[in-house]
Amino acid sequence: MSEQARVSHPKEPLLSTDVEGFDSLSELALDMRSSWNHATDQVWRQLDPVLWELTHNPWVVLQTVSREKLQRVLADPAFRKNIDDLVQVRRHAAEAPAWFQQTYPQSPLSCVAYFSMEFMLSEALPIYSGGLGNVAGDQLKAASDLGVPVIGLGLLYQQGYFRQVIDQDGAQQALFPYNDPGQLPITPLRRPDGEWLRLEIALPGYSVWLRVWQVQVGRVKLYLLDSNDAANYPAHRSITSELYGGGPELRLKQEMLLGIGGWRLLAALGVKPEVCHLNEGHAAFAVLERARSFMEETGRTFEVALAVTRAGNLFTTHTAVAAGFDRFAPALIEQYGAGYARTQLGIPLHDLLALGRQNPNDSSEPFNMAYLAVRGSGAVNGVSRLHGEVSRHIFLPLFPHWPQDEIPVGHVTNGVHMPTWDSAAADDLWTQACGKDRWLGTAETLEQDIRRISDASLWRFRAAARKSLVKYARERLSRQLAVSGASPEMVDGAKHLFDSNTLTLGFARRFATYKRPNLLLHDPDRLLRLLNNPQRPVQLVMAGKAHPADRAGQALIQEWMHFICRPEARPHVVFLSDYDMLLTEQLVHGVDVWLNTPRRPWEACGTSGMKVLVNGGINLSELDGWWAEAYTPEVGWSLGDGKERGDDLAWDAAEAEALYDLLEREVIPEFYTRDEQGIPGAWVTRMRESMARLTPRFSTNRAVREYIEQYYFPAASAYRERAADKGAIGLQVVNWQHALEQKWAALRFGEVTFETHSEQHVFEAQVHLDDLDPKAVRVELYADGVMGGAPVRQEMKRVRQLAGASGGYVYCAAVSAARRPADYTARVIPHYGGVAIPLEDPRILWQR
Ligand SMILES: *Cc1c(COP(=O)(O)O)cnc(C)c1O
Repeated sequence: MSEQARVSHPKEPLLSTDVEGFDSLSELALDMRSSWNHATDQVWRQLDPVLWELTHNPWVVLQTVSREKLQRVLADPAFRKNIDDLVQVRRHAAEAPAWFQQTYPQSPLSCVAYFSMEFMLSEALPIYSGGLGNVAGDQLKAASDLGVPVIGLGLLYQQGYFRQVIDQDGAQQALFPYNDPGQLPITPLRRPDGEWLRLEIALPGYSVWLRVWQVQVGRVKLYLLDSNDAANYPAHRSITSELYGGGPELRLKQEMLLGIGGWRLLAALGVKPEVCHLNEGHAAFAVLERARSFMEETGRTFEVALAVTRAGNLFTTHTAVAAGFDRFAPALIEQYGAGYARTQLGIPLHDLLALGRQNPNDSSEPFNMAYLAVRGSGAVNGVSRLHGEVSRHIFLPLFPHWPQDEIPVGHVTNGVHMPTWDSAAADDLWTQACGKDRWLGTAETLEQDIRRISDASLWRFRAAARKSLVKYARERLSRQLAVSGASPEMVDGAKHLFDSNTLTLGFARRFATYKRPNLLLHDPDRLLRLLNNPQRPVQLVMAGKAHPADRAGQALIQEWMHFICRPEARPHVVFLSDYDMLLTEQLVHGVDVWLNTPRRPWEACGTSGMKVLVNGGINLSELDGWWAEAYTPEVGWSLGDGKERGDDLAWDAAEAEALYDLLEREVIPEFYTRDEQGIPGAWVTRMRESMARLTPRFSTNRAVREYIEQYYFPAASAYRERAADKGAIGLQVVNWQHALEQKWAALRFGEVTFETHSEQHVFEAQVHLDDLDPKAVRVELYADGVMGGAPVRQEMKRVRQLAGASGGYVYCAAVSAARRPADYTARVIPHYGGVAIPLEDPRILWQR
């Protein structure tokens, strides 16, 4: 990375900046590493215990503490030594060669640019809404642990995602607190001469200035763009006001600033990533700007530049329904993009629109950001095995006549950053069993190591975690009730709710109808009987927000609030308002069972259930998203039959009954069946299996390694190859595609015949290529896979020219006679070394 990128200075002079030792504290406070490495917690707690408990924001603590107090603690040699040691450890962790450097000293990869609309790193930096931000934040952290050279790019919103208050009637109120940049752990990114780095981005009529902020995430940097610059026209200052707020026009402007501004920032820093990773389609304009910047460097056309640069782009889709993609009216793209297309990319508006359309010539079709991302990438992946399959179906329209199995979408199942989500006690337990550096390498031995922990230790650990959660839930609920004006009796009553020895279920997520957060309320009386069983009681902690515009989701919250008002429910169910990262941590540390009830297949992956694994919680979930591949009977419980049922209400009812049955017949008895030492043997066995088998597998450590090996390395090599010699190969690829364009319509099959010899069918196919170079295509025999197996694709060899037909050839191949000859169909597809088919060219000609 260039010199420029490393510069940064603490922000506005603070009262205490001249205090000896302040710089060290500020270095520690500004590193988001404190959100997963808790070594510095004690420092902030000592400076201001109350503020620390409430915010977990070291930077706020440091800014608030008095000069006098600071001087006093820093004068203590022991405190001072501790700070110096912590700074040394931090620098070592940030600079010493890590797993990546040691494993891949000759790596073709020097930098990955990771674009995301949201990042969930810490509650101290509230620029996220949910799952997507979670994936982005946890991946940056794992990249830091492993030493993967990643730079994050995102937006700084003037408002965090909304905060939730629930009123006396159970209705959700949305509040939008101001994100005061001075209180966030970010610093202005400055040029070497001290000037704040700002970028100018042209919008129609007037350009926008973007300020750049820097976030330190261990050894990784995240840059945030912000339009709230004093030089801006007032309407432009608020472009980055709010995450997922406003209408399509605001969203389009945000996405242009993220994609175009983000790539320009890299150029301004002198950073040249080989790989550009788009976390969801929001940032897909980066594809255009990357090509534009290649045009500027080499003088190539946009078409060639895109053919070169897309080899280095990876698109990760997170959506499980086509309606979830961002789509913009053509008029909006014309208003904001026509000038950019014409003057910057040198292409007509039509060509730009075509990149975001299924049918380039349908002028009414909206512009789809996911389509732009697919067309601009050298690889595409979904976020679980099932979601890969679902995405192959969703993107079928972009690859007409291709079998669904061959739609070019792979998958990398998400994981979570275990050091962020483990409790202090879990950290101790895992450290004893597996060592301190367990997430800094390949995590291969964790499974065996964790199996060695005794039943008694595991059960003690679990009981203590549940007890802490009960304490936390009581305090938080009584605070919540006091604020909402509840009676003193109610507030006091909250302090005695729950029981530390009772089976504790947790459910927390976005309240969207497809997640069916009210499934348990299907038969309220049956739920009450379950909760109130005197021998085997159950308690339930709930949390979750509904989008402020989602009335149906808000009604589901209200349904729960009304249920909780019933006197038989009150002692056993709490709804904690304002679901955020801090609340998630408490819940995932403490619950015995994590419930998840989405309608399959609408949960692309889901990550909250992975957060309980390291803490010994067990999942009970619909077979959807990650659980569809994680579940086996030894590690948890499943709901549903693994089939898609849409929003069939009768099926919902059947699943609700199945959920009650499962709880009554399996979960609850297993928890309460104890041996002579009071240990539930079967439960602890299940818990251990879940911890041992699933924790390493569903960690971001594994996910990031998969991205490196399956996607980043191939993308980096492919990009380097195409970019060499000013994009010479890119030009050849474009020329090849032009030839296909002109000649494809004339391609046709003649006769296809076969003979069967003992074990083999030998096929011969006549193919008329006209004057297309035979090397530009590949002829194959294809047969659908049987019983979910892979399809057969057998290349046919060109054996001779057809007599008397110029451009006519005979192709031949032998295939196993285990399948009927009629199962096989010949086809012609484009072929060019190193080009991804059908992703980069979806043409295909079938024999019939
Ligand atoms: C983990 C998390 C999510 C994502 O959870 P899902 O399983 O995708 O529902 C959302 N919000 C918060 C606050 C989280 O901690």
